[in-house]
Amino acid sequence: MADVASLAVAEPAAALRQRCPDAKAAPAAPPAQLKESETTENMQPKNKMGKLQGFAGTVDGSFFKQPPWVDTSMPPGMTSQAPQINGKKVLRNYLNLNFLVYSPNLVWLSVALFDYFVFPYDLEAAKTWASNWIAFRFFANFLIVFGYFGFWHVTLYFLEWGKRPFNPNRAYKISKVVHNMFYTFLGVLQWTLWEAVFMHCLATGRMPYVTDAESFGTSWGLFRFVLTCGLVAIWRDMHFYFAHRFIHIKFLYKYVHSLHHRNTDVEPFSGLCMHPIEHLLYFACCGPALYVYASPFCFMWFGVHLLISPAASHSGYEDNFQSDQFHYLHHRFFECNYGTGGIPYDKWFGTFRDSLDVNTKVYKGAHVASADNKMDSKSAAAADTKATLKGSLKLDQVMYNALCYMLFPVMVAGASLKLHGLDSISIPGYVSNAQIMAFMMSAGPLLVGITLLGMTSRRPFANPRLTFLYPFHKEKLLGAFGFNASISFLVTAVPVYHLSHMLLSEPGEAVYFSLYGGR
Ligand SMILES: [Zn+2]
Ligand SMILES: [Zn+2]
Repeated sequence: MADVASLAVAEPAAALRQRCPDAKAAPAAPPAQLKESETTENMQPKNKMGKLQGFAGTVDGSFFKQPPWVDTSMPPGMTSQAPQINGKKVLRNYLNLNFLVYSPNLVWLSVALFDYFVFPYDLEAAKTWASNWIAFRFFANFLIVFGYFGFWHVTLYFLEWGKRPFNPNRAYKISKVVHNMFYTFLGVLQWTLWEAVFMHCLATGRMPYVTDAESFGTSWGLFRFVLTCGLVAIWRDMHFYFAHRFIHIKFLYKYVHSLHHRNTDVEPFSGLCMHPIEHLLYFACCGPALYVYASPFCFMWFGVHLLISPAASHSGYEDNFQSDQFHYLHHRFFECNYGTGGIPYDKWFGTFRDSLDVNTKVYKGAHVASADNKMDSKSAAAADTKATLKGSLKLDQVMYNALCYMLFPVMVAGASLKLHGLDSISIPGYVSNAQIMAFMMSAGPLLVGITLLGMTSRRPFANPRLTFLYPFHKEKLLGAFGFNASISFLVTAVPVYHLSHMLLSEPGEAVYFSLYGGR
């Protein structure tokens, strides 16, 4: 098998340039520091495209060009991204709407609007459980996801419209693509279930909601609709960091997120290739549609963003729409760049890595090359071979899966359908059935992970922080760790709790009513 991981980053840049077919004759000097005005986050109008430069995430009007800050005399992935990740312009980008108009968000919003008007939620049908309206939503989600992911996969890997792969020596492995597509399919299936639960709750009065007549018939309604278009994208950017960092904590990484990291060299379908519990915590991003603004469009826009935004960011190429060196480095080196290139959380918490240069001075995290922690291209290629459906699981992983994504969801579904007395499990006067089931569904995957990790570790309590909290074991519990973990828990497990609770509660008892009162 050819070397499928990224270029040997420990090699000198000159040697790398020789192996990179697209690199121009290389100057010996490092890339010039870029001006702030050349960041991808804020592509200012310039050259022949005028004010349209950067529109909808394009470069010179194309979906297949590298961002302006990339030095093409360097091999792909070797330009330092440090000047881009400064955070100074984040607020301004939000206020002048560049984050929406001069960004891939505009493409995804168009897809969401298409979805909303062409495949609308049928809330009348959703009053009762039936396969037809759920199948309709599954069809819409499948079409959008596999159409969009398929576009990037075909254009880059078959038509070769991208010219600068981060790893020019990669070999195309069909087993890896099938593996990634399988878990992407599970993601589509699960999001359809989220939609079904949400639609059923709206349709049966378990939650009041904003109707289309309200959204499009009043100026206040229209204002809120337009506001939603932007706020969903902003919340996604914030949520991703906290959800992602959370699943890097050892007890979740081992049983959940390591599946996404089977790809050290990514391709589009690896974007949504996640363990079902990762899908669960990631989809919890739609929390604001449960607590703040219960609008069917808001919920669907969250769904479209969650489903398709990981495609091009996992392209494996430097010169295409949503080029994402930032996240490519995360797959290559694991414990860095948990967020996005937007809000610079990673810079603030010392986990920012700027390029494929393994010896960068920018990175301040705990994951560094050592005798037992190999970060060379050979080790990355060996890890990449794990992305296959043929791999076998250890007993504790089988137990985790059997409990967390088989037993728990089945029990919640059984209670909802009032099967086998599952709806009667409760502690009368203290804890309701809805509370027990919702707790199991949301906190269960965390508690089972901690328990199984403890049972399978050698002397787990000799250094419990290392055992359970790696790679954040050195952080202060009442500091960086506590801050991050608390927010992560609130934005991942808590929405899962409330959605499950709402499904199993009588109309008028869901969280929305607790927050705002009335029915
Ligand atoms: Zn990760
Ligand atoms: Zn990823």
